[in-house]
Amino acid sequence: MKLPHVDYEAPKTVAEAVELLAEHEDEASVLAGGQSLIPLLALRLANPAVLIDINGVDELSGVSAADGWVAVGAMTREYIAEESGTVADAVPLLAAALPLIGHEAIRNRGTIGGSLAHADPAAELPAVARALDAEFVVRSPAGERVVPAAEWFEGFLTTSRRPDELLVEVRFPAAERGTGVSFQEVARRHGDFAIVGLAASLTLSGGAITDARLAFAGMSDVPVRAAAAEDLLVGESPSAGLFDEAARRATADTDPPPDLHGSAEYRKKVAAALVRRGLREAADNAGRRGD
Ligand SMILES: Cc1cc2nc3c(=O)[nH]c(=O)nc-3n(C[C@H](O)[C@H](O)[C@H](O)COP(=O)(O)OP(=O)(O)OC[C@H]3O[C@@H](n4cnc5c(N)ncnc54)[C@H](O)[C@@H]3O)c2cc1C
Repeated sequence: MKLPHVDYEAPKTVAEAVELLAEHEDEASVLAGGQSLIPLLALRLANPAVLIDINGVDELSGVSAADGWVAVGAMTREYIAEESGTVADAVPLLAAALPLIGHEAIRNRGTIGGSLAHADPAAELPAVARALDAEFVVRSPAGERVVPAAEWFEGFLTTSRRPDELLVEVRFPAAERGTGVSFQEVARRHGDFAIVGLAASLTLSGGAITDARLAFAGMSDVPVRAAAAEDLLVGESPSAGLFDEAARRATADTDPPPDLHGSAEYRKKVAAALVRRGLREAADNAGRRGD
């Protein structure tokens, strides 16, 4: 299907992009990698009057590390982050999730900011951002605002970004020593969106779990933390029995949406299995980052 008629702007700087967004607000859509937006336009599920194409805004791309955080520019392509040594060393959970997004051709165009602004609850990166308490930096003519991940995802494909705000950067905390991670998912075919996904991170010190983070994709209209399971894990030593109980607690109060790919009950069973697998793998590789 052909795209609908739409005006097109191609700013070269963040300042120009922000000015255009402030001028058009709800009438405008930001065009990043286009891997979600262009299909939405073609299917007439989005109908903006203006496209603000930020592909020429070089200052929005790049990965840098400072003060215990890794900052990823919104226009950083998914494959660039996937190949980044900084991401692999400092944000191993992000590194584990990236290769699971679609296929190479998608990751070649798709961007970190695009995925997180799109906020598909079945996508990998929202679960990673929620698990790690990432920070979202948005800019408008009024200045910059930093939004914690817990306040970013508001509903299906909906974030707390205001219409005049551009997502410029996402910051992830660097993993501590002794941290092991795992991204688990079940999808119909390799490269499909997950039916259920799980971002898992465990930090171990002296054989005990000092930090536990679990966030699901595909279990609600937003990525969700499994707080009851995290609370159970902290202070304990990894064991099969502990991980079984964590899986039970992580899924006990969930009410996942049924769809063509699976009932709510099926999703809960898959989610529990992913918690057991994810925790096992995270505990196994925690040792590699030193104890
Ligand atoms: C066949 C296929 C399979 C896929 N499989 C997966 C998968 O398994 N997992 C997965 O997570 N994703 C998958 N995707 C989606 C892919 O990851 C997209 O790249 C991503 O969701 C959107 O990123 P984008 O850069 O292409 O953004 P775009 O499509 O350009 O934009 C997406 C939305 O975000 C907004 N936006 C983008 N950047 C900004 C910004 N800086 N500030 C404010 N708003 C912004 C846009 O206005 C739009 O509403 C798939 C896509 C395709 C086509």
